[in-house]
Amino acid sequence: MSELSELYQQVILDHNKKPRNFHKLENANRMAEGYNPLCGDHLNVYLQVEDDQVRDVSFEGSGCAISKASASMMTQAVKGKSKQEAEQLFNEFHRMATGELDEESEPNQLGKLTIFAGVRDFPARVKCATLSWHTMHAALNDQDKVSTE
Ligand code: ZN
Repeated sequence: MSELSELYQQVILDHNKKPRNFHKLENANRMAEGYNPLCGDHLNVYLQVEDDQVRDVSFEGSGCAISKASASMMTQAVKGKSKQEAEQLFNEFHRMATGELDEESEPNQLGKLTIFAGVRDFPARVKCATLSWHTMHAALNDQDKVSTE
């Protein structure tokens, strides 16, 4: 467990310092804004979707280390995926973060995203970790705003 939390901290720190795909996507054709008033996390997710495939994805905004690291890893995870695969990842990530999915026993596609499993013990942090995922999901489904409230 301490090993896991060490890995967790390293990954969070790394992605927070050097967030991946952290910019506005100029040729985006979907975009949504996510807000978590509980923590103050506020970010935009941009998608370029063509032929039901996420060709490109990016985010920008501000928030705590967890929300930013999670957004950074979300963009890496869904880039190049089909819309359906991205939705499945959203579903699995959300269920893992809220404790519905046991990543150890249930087959899933989460890979290194499972480092966020620990947030399920901290309800306020669940919203930080899932914000970018909810926002990506909203953008995929042509909604332009999402709030965790
Ligand atoms: Zn937060």
